[in-house]
Amino acid sequence: MTTWRQDDLSVRKCVRHGLSKAHERDSSLSSSSPRGPQHLRFQVLLVWEVWAAVAAMMRLRRPSSLLWAAALTFMFFLYIALPSSAPPEPCLCGQQQHSLPPNALPKTHPLDKHKLALLIPFRDRFEELLEFAPFIHNFLNKQHKNHHIYVINQVDNLRFNRASLLNVGFLESSVDCDYIAMHDVDLLPLNPEVRYQFPEEGPYHVSAPHLHPRYHYPTFIGGILLVRREHFRHVDGLSNKYWGWGLEDDEFYARLKEAKLEIFRPGNLTSGIKDTFRHVHDQRRRRRDMIKCYNQQEVTRHRDRHTGLSTVKYSIQSRKEVTIDGAPITILNAVLECDKVTTPWCDCTESIGNTPRSQLAPSKSEDVIVPRLNRKKHLSHDG
Ligand code: UDP
Ligand code: MN
Repeated sequence: MTTWRQDDLSVRKCVRHGLSKAHERDSSLSSSSPRGPQHLRFQVLLVWEVWAAVAAMMRLRRPSSLLWAAALTFMFFLYIALPSSAPPEPCLCGQQQHSLPPNALPKTHPLDKHKLALLIPFRDRFEELLEFAPFIHNFLNKQHKNHHIYVINQVDNLRFNRASLLNVGFLESSVDCDYIAMHDVDLLPLNPEVRYQFPEEGPYHVSAPHLHPRYHYPTFIGGILLVRREHFRHVDGLSNKYWGWGLEDDEFYARLKEAKLEIFRPGNLTSGIKDTFRHVHDQRRRRRDMIKCYNQQEVTRHRDRHTGLSTVKYSIQSRKEVTIDGAPITILNAVLECDKVTTPWCDCTESIGNTPRSQLAPSKSEDVIVPRLNRKKHLSHDG
C-alpha cells in the first residue's frame, strides 16, 4: 500500500508535467533507474483495467456496473488532472527523487525569470567554502532566486589573481545566467533583507561600505557585487594585471564610472556594519599577499585600458560537479597564464624589490584609481 502511494504521487506529478518529460528522464536514467518505466507501466495498467471492466460490463449488459466503470474512469482522470495544493516543483520522476537528499536537487523558481551565476574566486579556503556553499544556496532559495555556484579555483603556481578568476568564471558560466555575483567566499549575508535581485538598472553592490564589516570608503565595490552579463561584457570585465592582494576592485570601479553605469546599494536595512555580514577571515591564518615587486606598485595604481575579459589567458584543467551539504557547485580548476613582459609581478619569488616611483616616468594623474583612505574612518579591524 505504501509503495503504491509513493509511485502514485510520482505518476501524478509526471502526468501533470507531460509524459514526454518523464520519458526523457527515464531514458536518460535508464541504467540506474528501474522505477521510471514502472510508473508508466502502472499507469497503462490502470487505464487498461478500467476499460477491461467497461468492456466486460457492456457484454453483460448490466447498466449499474457500467455506471460504476464510468465513475471510476472519471475519478481517475479527475485525480491526475486536478492541481495539487503543494508548491510547484520540477518533475523529478524516477529514482533520483528518492535517492538524493531533498535539498540536493537543483531548484528552479518558476516566478524568477532571471538566473544568477555566483562566481567565487578561490584558492586554499576550503573550510570557508564548506560553510559558504550550503549557506548561500539556502539563503538564495529562500529568496526564490534561480542560481548556480561556480568556484574558480586557481591551480597554477602564480600569485592569486582574483580579477582574472572572475573573468574566467564569467566565460565558463552558463549563458542562461543573465547576471553574475562577484562573490568572496568568506562573506556571508546574515540579514534576510539583503537581496540578490537582478541588477536591472546598473551594478548592485550588496556588501556596501556602510554594511561591509571591514571596508567603508565610499568608492568601495568589493566583497559582493551583482552585475548584468551585458554590463560586465561592456566594460571588458576586470583588468588582468592585479596579481596579489588589492586594487583590482578599485580599477573595476573606474571602468564602471567611465561607462557611466550607476552603482546601486541597499538602503534602509535593519542591520549595519556589525550584523549584516559575517566575514570569516582570520588574518593570521589567511594572510593577504601584499608583496610588491618590479614596477607593480606604479602600474597597478592606474586605470588599465589594455587587458580584461577579452584578453584573459587560461586553461581549465578540470571541471567537477560536486554537492556540499545539499548545495550543487561547479568547481573549475583554472590555470592562469601570465605575460611576464607586461606583468612580471605575477611571480615575486625572485625577491626583486619594488621599483621606487622616483625611477619611473611620471604618469597621468587622472588615471589614478587608488582610493584615499582615512584608516580610522574607512577601515575596521575585522579580519
Ligand atoms: N581568495 C582566496 N584565496 C586567497 C585569497 C583570496 O580564495 O588566497 C578569494 C576569496 O574568495 C576571498 C576573496 O578572494 O574571500 C578576497 O580575498 P580576501 O578575503 O583575502 O580579501 P579581503 O576582502 O578580506 O581584504
Ligand atoms: Mn576576507
